[in-house]
Amino acid sequence: MAIYRHNPAYDSPARPRIPVKLFLGLAVAAIALISYCSKSQVNPITGKTQHIGLSTQQEIAMGLQAAPEMARQFGGLHPDQKAQDIVDTVGQELVAVLPPEAGQYQYEFHLLADPKTVNAFALPGGQIFITAALFNRLETRGQLAGVLGHEIGHVVGRHSAERITTAELTQGLIGAATVGASDYVDPRATQQVTGMVGNMILMKYGRGDELESDRLGLRFMADAGYDPRALIVVMEILREASGGSDRPEFMSTHPDPGNRIEMIQQELARMFPGGVPEGLRE
Ligand SMILES: [Zn+2]
Repeated sequence: MAIYRHNPAYDSPARPRIPVKLFLGLAVAAIALISYCSKSQVNPITGKTQHIGLSTQQEIAMGLQAAPEMARQFGGLHPDQKAQDIVDTVGQELVAVLPPEAGQYQYEFHLLADPKTVNAFALPGGQIFITAALFNRLETRGQLAGVLGHEIGHVVGRHSAERITTAELTQGLIGAATVGASDYVDPRATQQVTGMVGNMILMKYGRGDELESDRLGLRFMADAGYDPRALIVVMEILREASGGSDRPEFMSTHPDPGNRIEMIQQELARMFPGGVPEGLRE
């Protein structure tokens, strides 16, 4: 086996030849996998099978706990109460149309003071944020509904909870690989490979999550009476922002807006085969 580094210590009759650590590593991996698979459940709003080890209540508690620190990182809450009220009003209009199977989350919408970072994000459980840099670029309430609807999509899609559970599995498997391979392979190489695999899993989930949130956002917008095509304009605004001098932070965590516009158009054609209805709010 080419990957085994020959270890002369194993030639000594005093050392056991049974690869104890390899078996231990496999046992650790099996426990991590069994624990992960036992957390399998179907998300009633997306129909997707997910592995989640957190309850709704735990998600809400985590989000509430992290919210002040997240706000602090983006300059705190915006002092303009009128602007805050607009964010809150549009957010609550979307919450009002969520189907019961979307879960009993506790939604709060926060406008952050940061004038430079174009970003919006959701914490598990319903704490949702938009920076002033993104808010000020939006032209209509419908576009704001697009941003907030997308973030609500992350909450009801339970994407953070899913990523936390995946990260636990990854940690378990990294632990297993470290134990199992420690006799055979340079530990630094093991760490590098397992780290890379871990990142790939998380990134793949991230991209799928974004597209799912776009789809859910379109649905919530339309249900709340907003023209879902406003989300396409949001994507154009994001694309423009990424070309400017402001830090395009949204880009690092979100797929290319160009690809998303195409997906949004396909989804709209599927949702409204006869065309988007007239008279929706912009
Ligand atoms: Zn997103």
